[in-house]
Amino acid sequence: MTSSDCIFCRIASGDIPADVVYKDPHVVAFRDIDPQAPVHFLVIPRRHVATLDAAQESDRDLLGRMFLAARDQARADGVAETGYRTVLNVGADAGQVVQHVHMHVLGGRGLGWPPG
Ligand code: 5GP
Ligand code: ZN
Repeated sequence: MTSSDCIFCRIASGDIPADVVYKDPHVVAFRDIDPQAPVHFLVIPRRHVATLDAAQESDRDLLGRMFLAARDQARADGVAETGYRTVLNVGADAGQVVQHVHMHVLGGRGLGWPPG
């Protein structure tokens, strides 16, 4: 898939509007359009990587940056003390819909475990 076909590449480039809450040269975070918790944002790499399963050794730094962006934005959203969950859905059984790797960050309410 090329970036012009990918909705999250287009959000990262600013081609499609989103409620962007964090951005740096490598990573962008924006509010989920269908939030499942009071705080629900997605962290994506600017570079198109379809899924965690497609990540390569050279993506090690990028994946680390996604976690630290999630941490920073969770603090900014006021959920660092109460807690939050990071989720990467990978593939069909996990329900991955958008084929550009993205980390869900959910917080602001108690989250059940195990997930559905
Ligand atoms: P997945 O099921 O692939 O892990 O999750 C994809 C997520 O992307 C869903 O939570 C969905 O609501 C969100 N999403 C899909 N399209 C858009 C969009 O155009 N804008 C935003 N902000 N979120 C989107
Ligand atoms: Zn993409």
